[in-house]
This record gives sequence, C-alpha cells and structure tokens, in this order.
Amino acid sequence: MLSGSALSEDDQVAVRIMKTEQEMCYACGQRIADRYLLHVNGRSWHSHCLRCSVCQAALDRQPSCFIKDDNVYCRTDYVRNFGAKCAKCSRTIHASDWVRRARDQVYHLACFACDSCKRQLSTGEEFALHDSRVLCKTHFYECMDGGNGSND
Ligand SMILES: [Zn+2]
Ligand SMILES: [Zn+2]
Ligand SMILES: [Zn+2]
Ligand SMILES: [Zn+2]
Repeated sequence: MLSGSALSEDDQVAVRIMKTEQEMCYACGQRIADRYLLHVNGRSWHSHCLRCSVCQAALDRQPSCFIKDDNVYCRTDYVRNFGAKCAKCSRTIHASDWVRRARDQVYHLACFACDSCKRQLSTGEEFALHDSRVLCKTHFYECMDGGNGSND
C-alpha cells in the first residue's frame, strides 16, 4: 500500500506544448501553423485556403459552404451547378420561384406549358408527359393518334 504522501511515478505525465502541426491543410497540403484553422467536413483548412472552386471567394467568413466531389463551393455556385433545373428551359430554379412538378421533373411555372400549343397549363388542369414534353390533354391525344405510325 502506498503511503499517503508518496507520489507515484506513474502519475507523472510530461506536459507537452501541442502545436497544430499534425493538421494538414486539405487544399494546399501544407501544415497549418496558424492560430486558427477551419474545420469543414472532417478536414482542416487554412483560413485563407477555403475558397470557392468556381469564383474563388473566400469562405472563411461564411457560416457554411458546400462540398461536392471534393470541390468547395459557395452557395451561389453550388446552386448554379447542382441546384434544381427547370426541365424545360434548363435554367436554375431559385427558392423564390414558383414551380410545378410533374413526376420527378421540376418546371418554372411559366415553363409548364403545352409543348404543342404553348399554352400555360393551369393548376389542376390535366396534362400528359410524353417523351419529357408536357402536353395539354388535347395535344396529348392528337400526338397519340398521329404520332405512333402504326394506325390504319
Ligand atoms: Zn492551405
Ligand atoms: Zn463561388
Ligand atoms: Zn424554365
Ligand atoms: Zn396544347
């Protein structure tokens, strides 16, 4: 048994000044010796290395950024590249846009129109998707009647 005043050698631990030298910047591969580093998605970055891969905007003041396929994006470029696109005009659909959905396709409200007569289809109106074209009921049947060739 240890006497109360004795110090056990085993409890003595060396005090090491820990630097952040184990942390490698994911972008430039250099060690991070800065006082601050950014930790994003389980990886470390120099604060000046975390930049949008498209517009090069610094992201160190942003509350969040986007990472896809190991590339870093600001919100704007992420949405531009990976955000929902209108199936008709292939332009980006913004959060503020009114949209119509048909199966897994998304359309601007103004783009949701019959491909044949260009009439914008109103909510609740019957429509058909044919070869990813939107058709009003009339033109869908017209297309069915005339389009498939094998009629006599
Ligand atoms: Zn770096
Ligand atoms: Zn950007
Ligand atoms: Zn559109
Ligand atoms: Zn039509």
